[in-house]
Amino acid sequence: MNNFNYQNPTRILFGKGQIAEIANQIPADAKILITYGGGSIKRNGTLDQVHAALEGFTYHEFGGIEPNPTYGTLMKAVELARAEGIDYLLAVGGGSVIDGTKFIAAAIPFKGEDPWTILSERAPIESAVPLGNVLTLPATGSESNSGAVITRRETNDKLAFMNPLVFPTFAVLDPETTFSLPANQTANGVVDAFVHVMEQYLTKCENAPVQDRYAEGLLLTLIEEGPKVLATPDSYEARANVMWAANQALNGLIGQGVSQDWATHMIGHEITALHGLDHGQTLAVVLPSLMNVMRGQKGAKIVQYAERVWNIREGSEDERIDQAIAKTREFFEQMGIPTRLTDYGVAKDGEHTSVVSALVEQLKRHGMVQLGEEGNITPEVSTRILAEAV
Ligand code: NAP
Ligand code: FE
Repeated sequence: MNNFNYQNPTRILFGKGQIAEIANQIPADAKILITYGGGSIKRNGTLDQVHAALEGFTYHEFGGIEPNPTYGTLMKAVELARAEGIDYLLAVGGGSVIDGTKFIAAAIPFKGEDPWTILSERAPIESAVPLGNVLTLPATGSESNSGAVITRRETNDKLAFMNPLVFPTFAVLDPETTFSLPANQTANGVVDAFVHVMEQYLTKCENAPVQDRYAEGLLLTLIEEGPKVLATPDSYEARANVMWAANQALNGLIGQGVSQDWATHMIGHEITALHGLDHGQTLAVVLPSLMNVMRGQKGAKIVQYAERVWNIREGSEDERIDQAIAKTREFFEQMGIPTRLTDYGVAKDGEHTSVVSALVEQLKRHGMVQLGEEGNITPEVSTRILAEAV
């Protein structure tokens, strides 16, 4: 096991009724900015609960943060926050709202000329406005991690940054807020969480049984509970299990001490940037193909995954790997998320090569030329992964 230095400072407030608890988590004299997306929190009653909890507090609101939050929109919130002297941010929504709010938190006090450089040049940040959140879409783990992914539409950039200063101080996970999710967003979330686990698990065999079994437990839970949530969207228990699994998938714990491979996410970000697929859809397209192309390096771990997660014990090693990849693809399809670029109208007849090469050019432009746990997913390997994902 590798050395690690781990602290997750986010307080989790889990369960029904917990939105009321935010009043005890935010300083009474704070000037709060509530941030949210396109309005789902108004329609499902979450915003009303937040208002009730914040009676007596001073707050402003900023709505309209899009899925795959954009720099342009977020900078409007930064302007408002600076003008109003905001000193606490409360994100209410899915990963996009929370990620966007992390960027707002870092950009408000940013001393450099252009906060975009936090993403494009990894410009250091010295401080950030504190933030908390009420999560309404289990998927990203953003509610209690230090990462954020921001899009700049004019230049087709979708870039990530990570900084301990933007760990939320608290996250409310009330499964009842997720009853209103449409099936496709529920499914995107399950796929995203599943792939987060896989990217910290499906690397080398490293004699890290705690991390491995924790990861396998999360994968099994998502495989069992994901279809239940689709079949019975009002099941509190199934929603709660998915919400907790998605949080644990990317709160940083399972990736400590082991190698990680975020190539599926990095390639997926380019597919969203150029073709607008949802984040979860891009992952369902890339992962099965990446497993196949990287089977030489990942073979032993894929065999472990095959046996412990899918109970595949028969056949040669190659056959078991094939079955594990097929099972993974089937699971995504069962969740209603297609796994081929052509299923989304991308790379239709005759344009495979140009679609793949445009995506690989994007990876190169963003410096994503040594991906994977060994840094050997070069543009050439990404080309093969994408060509197989068509
Ligand atoms: P999202 O983009 O936040 O939300 C997707 C859609 O779901 C929105 O239209 C939203 O509507 C709707 N929605 C959210 N909660 C709802 C509810 N309870 N009921 C009904 N509709 C609801 O989705 P996400 O998958 O959570 O976030 C995706 C983003 O996170 C991507 O940009 C991805 O790259 C990023 N990401 C971040 C991390 C990380 O560690 N930080 C990890 C993986 C991915 P409204 O806008 O109307 O609310
Ligand atoms: Fe993700």
